This record gives sequence, structure tokens and C-alpha cells, in this order.
Amino acid sequence: MFDRASVVTPGGVNSPVRAFRAVGGTPRFMVSGTGPYLTDADGREYVDLVCSWGPMILGHSHPEVIAAVQEAVSRGTSFGTPGEGEVALAEEIVARIEPVEQVRLVSSGTEATMSAIRLARGFTGRAKVVKFAGCYHGHVDALLAAAGSGVATFGLPDTPGVTGATAGDTVVLPYNDLDAVRAAFAAHPGEIACVITEASPGNMGVVPPADGFNAGLKELCAANGALYISDEVMTGFRTSKAGWYGVDGVRPDLMTFGKVMGGGFPAAAFGGRGDVMAHLAPAGPVYQAGTLSGNPVATAAGLAQLRLLDDAAYAKIDAVSAELRSLVGDALTKEGVAHTVSAASNMFSVFFTDEPVRDYDDAKKQDVFRFTAFFHAMLERGVYLPPSAFESWFVSTAHDERAVERIAAALPAAARAAA
Ligand code: PLP
Repeated sequence: MFDRASVVTPGGVNSPVRAFRAVGGTPRFMVSGTGPYLTDADGREYVDLVCSWGPMILGHSHPEVIAAVQEAVSRGTSFGTPGEGEVALAEEIVARIEPVEQVRLVSSGTEATMSAIRLARGFTGRAKVVKFAGCYHGHVDALLAAAGSGVATFGLPDTPGVTGATAGDTVVLPYNDLDAVRAAFAAHPGEIACVITEASPGNMGVVPPADGFNAGLKELCAANGALYISDEVMTGFRTSKAGWYGVDGVRPDLMTFGKVMGGGFPAAAFGGRGDVMAHLAPAGPVYQAGTLSGNPVATAAGLAQLRLLDDAAYAKIDAVSAELRSLVGDALTKEGVAHTVSAASNMFSVFFTDEPVRDYDDAKKQDVFRFTAFFHAMLERGVYLPPSAFESWFVSTAHDERAVERIAAALPAAARAAA
């Protein structure tokens, strides 16, 4: 299948990190998923710790999500008109996340962040955008500088195809460094439209914000007339009922969402302050649109998933995450492998270094060859990890004792392989 794919698709995949380039070997082609398990085209089953890169927080094929999708599909798949489902999903988001007064639905996280920075520029009348090295906000031209995720996996500083003019309006700063943000505002007075940050980064591996970092960003933005954009595409509806905002309570001007809110379908959103959102067409002059925005099947899936995410669901995910973190840490310690298990709520990743990891430069100091050995040993034993040392691992409410036992059984050999 990979050979077939490689003929008709660049690199054989439709999103780079899926290609296993960083870890070597042939990517698995999955044919089905149930609960915490994926089954590949050769009939092998894996415990899934990728969860489609975050969205599948209830596991695969959750019966209530599938039923909601089937019900929606039975009524048609796309109307290109307003519909009740998209209103209900927007109401659910606004009800959960207090700083979001209005929200616009789109189809991918990339669209959400691209639209949010356009809106910030339109609202402030300024051009420059501040982002942090190692933060990934999708493949938006202006945000691809020193990005995490696939860009980190492939060791790219940035990408050809982004013009100098576009990149010139992006100021890239080290993560967790408020002095650098202060200096940037001083160097570009009246020019910075927004600071965009992952609410708690997962795309250089999991590197949580230092105490007071997000609050400091908010303060500096407010003092300098810039908007504070919190990208919750990964953390939203995952790290708590109200995402990372529910953890640190720092009030953004704009927020972006994706992944979990789509229930496994392409649905994403950006939203925030009512006076800012009022600048968006057709209410205001900043244009943004989408043929499939608010798609009835995607919104039905997202709504069904969000409605199942109550306090008990988060308690369960947090507990499984904590158990796995300690199992992985113990296995690596037993084999004397230098490591840091880094967590932000239930998101976590393992850095193969025992130095503290506070930013992208620290993350890049890990021994990625140890991760590669660990990854393949886990894969051979039926555990599917993200195929890169710079990604978060994800668990779901479906990761039960049996799934955890299977991971635990694979760990000793994987730790030995990494030693
Ligand atoms: N923002 C963050 C924090 C992400 O993690 C991602 C994707 O991983 C995106 C934006 C882009 O989302 P999408 O892949 O849906 O375009």
C-alpha cells in the first residue's frame, strides 16, 4: 500500500509526520479502530497512543458518536446554508469557554489560526505577528517559521514557498521567555498585531508554560495594544472541560480550536471577544469563509463527542495518563535511560534527556536515536506511538486496564532497546 501511495502522493502520505521519516520503516496503514485499538491492513492490532493526533478522546468508533454521525448523514451531507447543528456546537463552545463570546466554525486548525491572525491584523491595523519557536499553529505561511510538529521532526528551520515579505512580518521568540517578548514590543512599537502561542505547547513534545508565562503574555499584549491569541487546537476540550483556559484561567482575546471539537471529522473554530469577532464578515470588514464550514456531519460528531466529555470523563483520562507516565518513567529508570516525562494535564511526552526542557532548544537536545529504538520496540509489540520525538502522546476514555496492561508488557523491552 505504501508503494502504491508513494506513486500517486508525495512521500506516500497526506501529512508529513505520518511517513515515519524520522523513525524509519514503513508507516502502518490502518483499516479500523475500536476503543483504544487500531487494526492495520495486515490484521495487526495496536494500542493507539496517537488518537488521530488528539481528536479521538473517547477512543475509536464510540457508539454514541457513530450514531450521531449516522443520524446526520441520513439527512444529507452538506447544504451550504446555516443549520441547527452548527449553532448547537457554537453554543456548546461558548458555554464551556467563558472568554469566547462568539465563534466562527472552519474545517481545520490551520484555517482557524490563519483566520485569527488575519482578524487580529484587521482589528488592530498592524502587520507583525509574534510566535514562539517550537510552537506549531498549522501550515499557515506566516506561522511556519521555527515551527514544531512535522517541521521539528524534519529539522527544517522554515520552508521554501513562504516569501521573505510574509516571514518578515513574523517575529519568532524563544518559548517561556517574557524578557524576549518585552524586547520585541520595545523594538517594534505600535507594529505588533498579536502574540500567538500554543496554550500549552505539545508540538515540540509537551513543554508546559512556566508559571506566569501566559499571564505575562496577556499583560504585555494589553499594555501594547496587541491581541493575545491562545491556540487551543490541541489542548482545547482535552486538558480540561474548558481546555487550557480551564487550567490557567488566563483570558485570551482570541482562541483557536480543532481536533477534539470535530469528533474525528474536519471541524475547527476561532472565537473570543465579541468586539473583535464583530470585525469579521459579514458583520464587519475582515473576510473569511468556507464551503464546508459548519458541515452538518462534522458538527454532529463534534457535538456528540463534547456532550460526552463530562467531569468523570476527564478524571478517567487524567488517571490513565498518570498511570502511563509512571509506567514509562519506571521502565526507563530501571534501564538507566536518561529521560524526562513531561506532562501538561493529561497530555504528555517523553524526552530522552534528563536536562530540564523549557523551550525548543532544550527539546532538540534529546537523544532522538533513543526515541527511535523505543518507538520501534513498542510498535513491534503492538503499541502505536507518535512517530516522532517531538509530539504529544494522547490517551482516551477508552484506554482501560487491558490496554494499559498491554502497554506495560511492551515497556521493559522498549526501555532496553533505548538503553
Ligand atoms: N494548532 C495546533 C496547536 C496544532 O497542534 C495543530 C495541528 O496539529 C494546528 C494548529 C493545525 O491544525 P490542523 O492540522 O487541523 O490544520
